[in-house]
Order: sequence, then structure tokens, then C-alpha cells
Amino acid sequence: MATHCGGKIAQAAKGSISYELGLVPGDMVVSVNGRCLRDEMDFRFYTAESEIVLEVLRKNGDREIFEIEKDEDEHLGLSFSNPLFDDIRICKNNCLFCFVRQIPKTMRRGLQVRDDDYRMSFLYGNFITLTNMDEEDFARLEEQRLSPLRVSVHSTDPSLRERIMRNPRARDIMKDLKRLCDIGIRLHIQIVVMREVNDGKALEKTLSDLDSLGENIKSVGVVPAVYTKYRKVLPSPPLDEKWALSTLDIIQDYAWKALKKRGYHWVYGADELYVLGKREFPPYEYYDEFPQYENGIGIIPEFRHSLEQLKKHCSRITDSTDSKILVVTGRMAEKEIENAIETLNLQESFRILPVDNRFFGHTVSAAGLLTGQDIIAAVLDKKKENKEKLGSVLIPSVAVFGGKFLDDITPEDIEVKCKIPVQVVEPNPEEFLKAIKTARTKV
Ligand code: SF4
Repeated sequence: MATHCGGKIAQAAKGSISYELGLVPGDMVVSVNGRCLRDEMDFRFYTAESEIVLEVLRKNGDREIFEIEKDEDEHLGLSFSNPLFDDIRICKNNCLFCFVRQIPKTMRRGLQVRDDDYRMSFLYGNFITLTNMDEEDFARLEEQRLSPLRVSVHSTDPSLRERIMRNPRARDIMKDLKRLCDIGIRLHIQIVVMREVNDGKALEKTLSDLDSLGENIKSVGVVPAVYTKYRKVLPSPPLDEKWALSTLDIIQDYAWKALKKRGYHWVYGADELYVLGKREFPPYEYYDEFPQYENGIGIIPEFRHSLEQLKKHCSRITDSTDSKILVVTGRMAEKEIENAIETLNLQESFRILPVDNRFFGHTVSAAGLLTGQDIIAAVLDKKKENKEKLGSVLIPSVAVFGGKFLDDITPEDIEVKCKIPVQVVEPNPEEFLKAIKTARTKV
């Protein structure tokens, strides 16, 4: 594969070495000490020396060399327009449950990108599959110790993983994981579990294989596959309460074993499994350092914990808006929000607005997958009821990516269409109290 060298500067921080050298946005840093820069990670790694030679292609086409002496840990103060410098690596799999393949082709192009790039895993915590890694990648990981990484495993059984991911290269997972562990890369693992495919005994075997790889397997998150209404033929049977409970039994049994061996629970089930199985969530402490929070694991227990803390520290919460604030959420978190409003004694000010996901279908209940059009329809319906004066709408920030919902609608569009102020807030009880203050100041 031809290697692309260099990345465009977005900014040279004021007062930094780069600023003093006169580097400006649009200049391109090509190499450091004669080493071609593949991305920002290379730049960071090679500039961590005290003497560096920087090759820069200026905006006007001139090539300049800068010889710099600095402290080893002193940064040059540069940021880049694209930390990868070139294109993101695309996945070579065709997983049975792939969510990206289940969304309409008309949706924003960025949503159709099936990235599988270890650099994105290091920088942003994206999950990768290791099926597109070559010798050069492994060598780089060893040299630069890009750790931790997040890996989607699904099954450690070679044939089963190949069948799930529909890629023969997927078979080598145990070999690849061992290789990464041996060079000191810490790994957080995801298992997307499908009923009658990689659940039951297959899940137990996967957990035990992962456990055998030692302490560099830092955590394992088990999340159920989600199918949208665009998936006409389901690759595995729909989930139900009994299945969720038996899957949680496997996870929790293993977690207790892991606790004895590792001192923490190590494997965690998705919040969705507890909701589906109607099982009480484990206590906040069970989630240790919340290593799989971004994967939807422990969000509800964390929410409850913040609620308790808030209640403890604000014994006299007064509820005083004359118009009602609508709290938008998905069906999965409906009860949690309801409970938070009651616990904080905010019933006078807030109304919960659970929104059905008509866009992706009723099987999708997470707030993060709500679209702008479903929210608009729900707010307009609520307004039509005309029972109470509505003052504003709170939207959970997890549903907004780069200022837009998944269907490209923006919070401002909702304000215009529904003629009501909208606030995008973190899904956290503290935000309710802040919303009251904001509502008061707007009166
Ligand atoms: S690796 Fe991810 S993006 Fe690629 S096919 Fe599988 S689920 Fe889809």
C-alpha cells in the first residue's frame, strides 16, 4: 500500500514553538527526522525527542526544513485538519447484524461509513475487528504502543466468528489478540450477542478464552444485536425476557469469578439486557471504572447514582416554572427519567415525553438513536393536546452528532417547526435543575 506522507496544519497554538517558527494553517508537515508522517500519532511519537528536524511544505509550494531543539516532553503546539492525514480505513467484513447496513441508503453519507481503523480506536475509542491489520500495522503498534484499543470479538471460535463476520480473515482472532496482549497493548472487548448464534455455551467459551489471555484484556462488554425495521429477514430470532435473563446469568456468573481472580468484575452486560430481562441493575460499584460506558453499559446505574448524590446535596429543591419543560427520551430510559423527576420533586415543572422510534422501528428504544423527525412529531402531538402551557424541550445530547440528529434535522429545526425553545442537555439529573434556571431566566 502506498504511504501517504504528511498532514495539513489546522492551527499553530499562540506562543508555541510552531507559532514562533511561523507555521500557519494550510502548511503541511511532511516528515520528522526523515520519517514520513502517516498521521497525527506518528507526529506525536516522533516529535517526543529533544532534537528534531521538521520538513514542511509551505502553502506557497516551498519546501522548508526546521531544526528544533526542545525539551523531550515539550509539544510543538500543532493541530491538524484531519488527525488521520488520509482516508479512514473501511471494514472488510459483512457482519450478520451490521447496523450500518440496516440504515436507509438515503441517510447522510457519514453514517454509511463502516470504519475499521485502529487509529480511530486509539484516538476515539471506536471498536475495530483486526481483520484488516497487516504486519506493518502490528509492527507499528509494537513500536508506538497505541494503547488501549477496543476490539469487537463476538466469538473466539474461528468458524463461528467467520460465519458471523462473513470474512475468512476473522478466524485468527485469538492469535491476533494474543499478539497484541504480548506486546503490551491493553484491550477492551465487545461481544455483540445474537440469540442462537453466539449465545449460551458459545458465549461461555468466548469469555473463558478471553480470560485466558491474561491481564491485558481489560474489560468485556456484552451487548445484544439490534435490528431496525429495514432488516426484512432477521439473522437471529428476536430477543425476549427469558433469553435476556439467561444471558445475564452467564455474564454475572463469570463476573463473580473474575472478581475473585482479578479484583474487579471484568465482564459487564448492556443496560438493555437488564431492561429486557426486568432484572434489577447491579449497584453502581459493580461497574468498577465504567470501562464500557461508551458502549451503553452502566449508563442507567450511573444516572441513578448521580440522582442519589444530587438528592443528598440538594435537600431543598424548589420547583418553580409556570410553564412545563418537556424531557425527551427513548422508551428504554422512560422509567428512569420519570423516577428522577419524582425523586427530585419536580413534577410541577417537568413532563416526560417518551418518543417512539418510528424511523428505525419499535425494536430500537435507545435515546441515542432518536431522529429529529420522530421528536418533532411527538412534540407537535403533545402541543395538540393543549392541556398545559409548554415552555421548552430538553433533548438528550446523545442523540445529536455534530449538531444534527441521525436524519440530518437540527435542534434549531425543532424550535422552528414546533415553535418552542429547545435545549440539548447531557442525560444527567443535574441538567434538570439547570433547565429550570434557564427557563426562569427566559421568563
Ligand atoms: S465490522 Fe462493524 S461496520 Fe463492519 S460489517 Fe461488521 S458491524 Fe458492520
